[in-house]
Amino acid sequence: MTDRYAVIGNPIAHSKSPEIHMEFARQTDQSLTYERLLAPLDGFVETVEAFRAAGGRGLNVTVPFKEEAFRYATRLTARAEASGAVNTLRFDEQGVLGDNTDGMGLVRDLRANHGIMLYGTRMLLLGAGGAARGVIGSLVGEQPERLVIANRTLSKAQDIADSFGQAIEVMAYDALVTERFDIIINATSASLTAEVPPLPENVYAGARVAYDMVYGAEITPFMARAAQAGCPICLDGLGMLVEQAGESFYLWRNVRPATGPVLALLRASLHA
Ligand code: NDP
Repeated sequence: MTDRYAVIGNPIAHSKSPEIHMEFARQTDQSLTYERLLAPLDGFVETVEAFRAAGGRGLNVTVPFKEEAFRYATRLTARAEASGAVNTLRFDEQGVLGDNTDGMGLVRDLRANHGIMLYGTRMLLLGAGGAARGVIGSLVGEQPERLVIANRTLSKAQDIADSFGQAIEVMAYDALVTERFDIIINATSASLTAEVPPLPENVYAGARVAYDMVYGAEITPFMARAAQAGCPICLDGLGMLVEQAGESFYLWRNVRPATGPVLALLRASLHA
């Protein structure tokens, strides 16, 4: 029987994961299928159980189920444990392994695809939702000189900082006016509603890199604002999407796909 995989979420129709994983499978000669699985908002566990009963081997998990997937897993990787959210499930003889590949995806995109050094930099992470939580452990692992989280709802940023117990600073947006950062990472969903986080103009202007986790055919509002302020390198999150998928594929199949060609294909398809 062909091994079955899927991405589960609500909504899910927009997901590019099936294209990415089928391309990985073609490239590495793996026999598998990969589909989109729409779960009712109150039916995550039932949908996963039905998929497993039908022979499912693994799932990618997206909004809004990453915390539920964390609770569903019977074992967790260290990075999933640290982030409190799971974006990859593997069903095996020992039960359900939960992993979080978002942070690795972001770091690999910045470092390997864009040649951006993270060690010793001053980093600003915007947002304190699941995406921010998922990447913060990997960012800390890169040993920045400084890592600050800013969020509209400050208590959520403080919760993340507290649960990591590391030297992560939390600041309100307006308090950043006197600060300077090398890299700004936008982990808010603001770009999805054509908004930009309320970051003082000079913070954009002083940065070397502005990275938006959101992506699309056009540059995102956050990238546009940063570029307008004079930030020289403005990047979107398409590479992160492909890199986190590559890491999930490796967890499931023990084969590492070449992500570069898949990223190029996906970028071209956005413009088609
Ligand atoms: P959540 O809904 O969990 O969190 C959203 C965050 O955005 C909150 O911190 C919220 O602030 C903040 N926010 C929303 N609107 C605004 C605004 N107008 N101004 C300032 N802050 C705002 O979402 P996720 O964390 O799961 O995802 C965030 C984004 O990251 C999504 O757009 C998602 O598509 C993207 N993503 C991309 C990935 C990739 O591979 N490229 C992987 C994972 C996520 P508050 O807490 O104050 O409400």
